[in-house]
Amino acid sequence: MRIDVLGVGFDDLTMDEAVERGMALLRAPGAHYVVTPNPEIVEICRERPEVARAVNGADLVLPDGIGVIKGAAMLGTPLKERTPGIEFAARLMERMAAEGRSLYLLGAKPGVAEAAAEKLTEQYPGLSIAGTHDGYFQEDGPVLQAIRQSGAEVVFVCLGAPKQELWMVKNGADTGARLLCGLGGSLDVFAGTVERAPKFWCDHGLEWFYRLCREPKRLGRMMKLPLFLVHVQQEKRKR
Ligand code: UDP
Repeated sequence: MRIDVLGVGFDDLTMDEAVERGMALLRAPGAHYVVTPNPEIVEICRERPEVARAVNGADLVLPDGIGVIKGAAMLGTPLKERTPGIEFAARLMERMAAEGRSLYLLGAKPGVAEAAAEKLTEQYPGLSIAGTHDGYFQEDGPVLQAIRQSGAEVVFVCLGAPKQELWMVKNGADTGARLLCGLGGSLDVFAGTVERAPKFWCDHGLEWFYRLCREPKRLGRMMKLPLFLVHVQQEKRKR
């Protein structure tokens, strides 16, 4: 059963359990997809029903940020732990490398996915990068064909939210892959073009603050966080 936070149902899993589930999806026939919503995406889901459907329709819904964990706790239905998309991806790649599985990297500015591929190949020997494509394409057709031809089993879809969630719903099955993961700006981090917050900030639930200081243009987007907390308070009173 999923834990509802303002209309988004989150899977209540530890990181180990989430990775296990990811690997099981990769082995099961058909196309599956994983989403990793943060409070900003929960707020977008409240405004846009088609995004809410895409997010809730995922095979795995993992709480990316501390805000969702706090929100769930405030509502009296705590989640086991934070399972950030980027850490989930790293753990999944470890397992994929051990089994010699193949991965396609889709998204980010031109050149970033290739740079990420180079770094990841070094970091995870055994992992096969089947192909890469930037995230600024006009037509899905040629991209889908490239992914299908690559034979990739997993696709990291890094187009930002909610574009990546909608893209996975529409196109997931046509990629021929078993598992698609919507991972926002992760390719920028894997490529080294954007740094992830140091461990201290992540461990103390302050990754959002670190990112805000590094990229002040995120302020507009981050104003969704206080709004999310207000909505959680309202929901708590209702319940
Ligand atoms: N992006 C993309 N295509 C687009 C819009 C965005 O590939 O049409 C990429 C963008 O270059 C960045 C990622 O999507 O790499 C979104 O990053 P952001 O930091 O917004 O995501 P977050 O991790 O905060 O969800």
